[in-house]
Amino acid sequence: MIANYHTHTTRCHHAVGSEREYIENAIASGIKILGFSDHSPQFYKNGFVSGMRMSLNEAPNYIECIKKFADEYKNDIQIFVGFEAEYFPDIFYSLQKLCRDYGADYLIMGQHFLDDEPTGIYVGSPFSQPELLHRYVDQVAEGISSGSFTYIAHPDVTNFIGDESVFETEMTRLCVCAKRMNIPLEVNMMGLAGGRHYPSERFFKIAKMVGNDVVIGCDAHNPAVLLDTDMHKKTLDYTKAFGIEPLETAELKKI
Ligand SMILES: [Zn+2]
Ligand SMILES: [Zn+2]
Repeated sequence: MIANYHTHTTRCHHAVGSEREYIENAIASGIKILGFSDHSPQFYKNGFVSGMRMSLNEAPNYIECIKKFADEYKNDIQIFVGFEAEYFPDIFYSLQKLCRDYGADYLIMGQHFLDDEPTGIYVGSPFSQPELLHRYVDQVAEGISSGSFTYIAHPDVTNFIGDESVFETEMTRLCVCAKRMNIPLEVNMMGLAGGRHYPSERFFKIAKMVGNDVVIGCDAHNPAVLLDTDMHKKTLDYTKAFGIEPLETAELKKI
């Protein structure tokens, strides 16, 4: 593995380890490009506080901290700082502005919720209503058409257990849209290691058919993941089994 753009920090309240541990493990396993993409803060209204992301106040320090490490380790590894972010139409502009103001390098889309987090639906829980999946794909499509996202993290996070033909139609729509926008799809190593419902075979068969670019993302919430070269290889084999050759590096898109 040459590059991994999907790395968390303890600021999201569900990751462990210091930034230095993530960086040194990445170097030890031969990774040349390491991107931190912790769960972004969101400009929620009405004082809603998310339990799975940093606060708005922490964002400047996060960016500054990773940039310092980037400089310290510049001879050993190239380090970028970004966010894994949701696309919530009403408040996305504010997040883009924050990223630009503080010089974040990139965003990956991690769309865990339909509509929004405070009142919306977590799509990783099983659901079977076609209209929800349809609206989810609309939201992802609208989000990536902003041009701000470097790739889509776990594009197969939706745990849709309804009609298979609906799944095929909607995921084909998602894949075609990503391809048109030249946005790669991620095979999520954490999901594979943890036996989650993603990465999903039925999804990557569609991505293969559509001809999407694919990147492997560690989704590291623990520094040990970056040292686990067996798991890196397993994820690569998993991807190649679909006849997909993943990109070694991704082009970072301007936010
Ligand atoms: Zn997470
Ligand atoms: Zn993640």
